[in-house]
Amino acid sequence: MADANTSHEEKFEFQAEIKELLHLLVYSLYTKREIFIRELISNASDALDKMRYLNLTEEGLKGKDIPLEIRIELDKNHKVLSVTDTGIGMTRAELSQHLGTIARSGSKEFLKQMERATQGDMNLIGQFGVGFYSSFMAASEVRVLTKSHREDEPSQMWASSGAGSYTIRDAPMGRRGTRVELQLKDDAGEFVEEDRVREIIKRYSNFVSYPIYLDGEQVNQVTALWTRPKGDINPEEYEEFYKFLTNAFEGPASTLHLTSDAPLSFKSILFLPRKNLEKLGMGKLEHGPDLYAQKVLIQHNCKDLVPDYLRFIRGVVDSEDITLNVSRETIQDNAVLRRISRHLVKKVLEHMARMMEDSRDDYTAFYREFGRVLKEGVTLDYENREKIAGLLLFNASSLETEDKLLPLKEYTNRMPEDQVSIYYLTGPDRRTLEASPHLEMFRKKGVEVLYLYDPVDDFVLSHVSEFGGKPLKSADQVAPDELDKLGSEELQEEEKPETMAFQSAFDALLKRFQEILGDRVKEVRESHRLTTSPCLLVTPGEGPSIQVQKVLSMVDKNFEIGKRVLEVNKDNPLIRSLVELNKEDAGSLLVTQCCEQLFENAMLVEGLVPDPSQMVARIQKIMEKAAGVG
Ligand code: ADP
Repeated sequence: MADANTSHEEKFEFQAEIKELLHLLVYSLYTKREIFIRELISNASDALDKMRYLNLTEEGLKGKDIPLEIRIELDKNHKVLSVTDTGIGMTRAELSQHLGTIARSGSKEFLKQMERATQGDMNLIGQFGVGFYSSFMAASEVRVLTKSHREDEPSQMWASSGAGSYTIRDAPMGRRGTRVELQLKDDAGEFVEEDRVREIIKRYSNFVSYPIYLDGEQVNQVTALWTRPKGDINPEEYEEFYKFLTNAFEGPASTLHLTSDAPLSFKSILFLPRKNLEKLGMGKLEHGPDLYAQKVLIQHNCKDLVPDYLRFIRGVVDSEDITLNVSRETIQDNAVLRRISRHLVKKVLEHMARMMEDSRDDYTAFYREFGRVLKEGVTLDYENREKIAGLLLFNASSLETEDKLLPLKEYTNRMPEDQVSIYYLTGPDRRTLEASPHLEMFRKKGVEVLYLYDPVDDFVLSHVSEFGGKPLKSADQVAPDELDKLGSEELQEEEKPETMAFQSAFDALLKRFQEILGDRVKEVRESHRLTTSPCLLVTPGEGPSIQVQKVLSMVDKNFEIGKRVLEVNKDNPLIRSLVELNKEDAGSLLVTQCCEQLFENAMLVEGLVPDPSQMVARIQKIMEKAAGVG
């Protein structure tokens, strides 16, 4: 036992969150415990990155000649694994701050999300960078010996068995850096086996940009992948690099290697992932490629490099044109970075378009994961709006099943020449849309309609408004004369000659509808778009679509849904009977009830909910009549 006075030993309790995290790591996440090696190497590499940066930017710093490296030593006899780096090291205050509290804001929430997100798939835990504490999965005691790069700070030893507290005391250490020593648990003997540890380092840490020595022998390749010529890199290397960067266990959905010399000089490897972790309930994750200036890491996850709607992009960007002094605060104000970012966005969108053309199935799988994120771009990135719209996929009436998707270009390519607009209709699912009276005329004339199921789609398409010079229109907002012109000659609607008498009796019924519904509708008129249904509600073309209005009314209690036009189909048998009934008895109660009910049925079809109590009573009355009771 060390002398508490001379070694200045202090004992501390871990923050509650850390106790919870330790518990989680040790008891529930045992499966992939080898990742602790990756986490320790990654911390060492971060500390070396910081040191390299200081060496390059701070004058008069001592120890610039100390090689930047990581050494892993296995002591079989004592079952000790150690990871030593020559990075920035830690002072006493930093030790208890960094290895006693979780620095991340909202760490509690992070823990909860992590538990939730990984349920059922423990492999995913590796992607969340659990960090230093993962060493307790394999160690019964962890000791951290560290000496800060700051000259006058004494070296320190942190020690803990992970049970709830840790100690810090003065301890001698020769040179700057950090040595993490793991006293392995009885069942963790594999981690002093050289072959096993080498395999783990190669699997997870092959691309660390400092030499890693295992018992004196270098194991990793240090050249930065993005600086090598494209032709020399094989697909496996890209895949390994992606796994290294993201901690993922599977390869990327797609890879993009960019090199540019003029006018901007930069190199970049970007990846589209396969899985959207946000969908697992993990809120927005840290995102953006890692930014390097002349191979020196400036910032992990530089989110300013890509817009939010491309936040799934992972990778690295390295530029000769930015100076090391570009600090976190000034990135947004940096003209070179802004230009690089614009270039990246352009290239990524082009890459996705190519992927859509060349390997539709892969693109569709990718889109199912990230389409929702991409859509945000339509409303946010004015400059690239149409390009992004071109990358969206939709179900459509011509496709056999709900799970099939097509891009707008495929729709416009097969539009007949005389079709002027792109039509779409929003609804909860295909079955509901197929039953919608709005589609009757489109179906009859063989005109394809896009089916939109995501509630945001309507908003998104209202922002696009035009694609390839063709306006996008909601099928329930199309003017009757535009519908008349649709379809081939043979299908043009031939007006059936009605007797004058019937027409005027029908007009009388329309008037009756208008009187009964009053200002609940904008207008009641004869329909030319229905083939079977008795009525439908049409949204006047000039305003926002009914779906957008519904959303607005949910957000803003004072928002009133605009009045709509009720169209009535005079070929429908029920309507024809009502015409007769109305002619015989202008005050018929049944006609009134039927008009009310038909209006409310039309509302229901649109997903609008009329007052149920009145409706139930009315249906009851109509049924009594039909059953001969009333
Ligand atoms: P993270 O690495 O995600 O920040 P960790 O729990 O792994 O979380 O580490 C906490 C902090 O401890 C790090 O942010 C760093 O400041 C410090 N640290 C860990 N390992 C080292 C090391 N080898 N050298 C210097 N500082 C370290």
